[in-house]
Amino acid sequence: MRIWPLDSLKKGIITTKFPKKENETISPWSTLPKRKNDEDVFCPADAIGTEGVDLKKCISCGLCDSSFEPSLKTDNYSMIRKEPALKKSFKIFAIDSGTCGSCNTELHSINNPYYDASRLGIFFTNTPKQADALAIMGVYSEKMVPVIKEAISAMSRPAVIILFGACPLSGNIFGKSLESIIEPDLVIGGCPPDPFVIIEALEKVRGRKQ
Ligand code: SF4
Ligand code: SF4
Repeated sequence: MRIWPLDSLKKGIITTKFPKKENETISPWSTLPKRKNDEDVFCPADAIGTEGVDLKKCISCGLCDSSFEPSLKTDNYSMIRKEPALKKSFKIFAIDSGTCGSCNTELHSINNPYYDASRLGIFFTNTPKQADALAIMGVYSEKMVPVIKEAISAMSRPAVIILFGACPLSGNIFGKSLESIIEPDLVIGGCPPDPFVIIEALEKVRGRKQ
């Protein structure tokens, strides 16, 4: 018979020390790819330009692996908002406007014992009225537009609007971007974004990371 408390004691603390220390287990192809040679390469998301890989378009498919390799950096996010928001408790309300499920899973995984975002003061809430941030995932869907707008108007200010993943940012390879109707404060790329990227982006928008 297994004695669960003993198992836990043997295992010790599994929670990552990120962002105080380096991340240990980032999923390689969820980071933006970087060039390793000059060969032409087909990108199904049209994400490769002269400036490099567009974080809004890259769907982390790994099809460019002959000429690119994962950068392993956590920087595939971009801050639009200039002033930092709410260094203390930070509550997120998530809206799914039409995802495949993975963005939802990855976002909520920051709450599991390994990432444990609550140690940084990051929590989820079930109502936009209590939320400091709105995370919008999934492709443009006409029927979800009024729902998203209503959630934004129910939030107190300052509210951080996050477009989360390639679907709302570019429409992925099958849809339409939400950027034409929602003005974000923070965009997080990836398909889906890695939890380490999510945590770093949230710490930055809160003004807790330079
Ligand atoms: S990982 Fe896929 S989507 Fe991203 S740049 Fe490479 S080929 Fe394009
Ligand atoms: S960005 Fe990728 S992982 Fe996220 S909902 Fe769209 S298809 Fe799924």
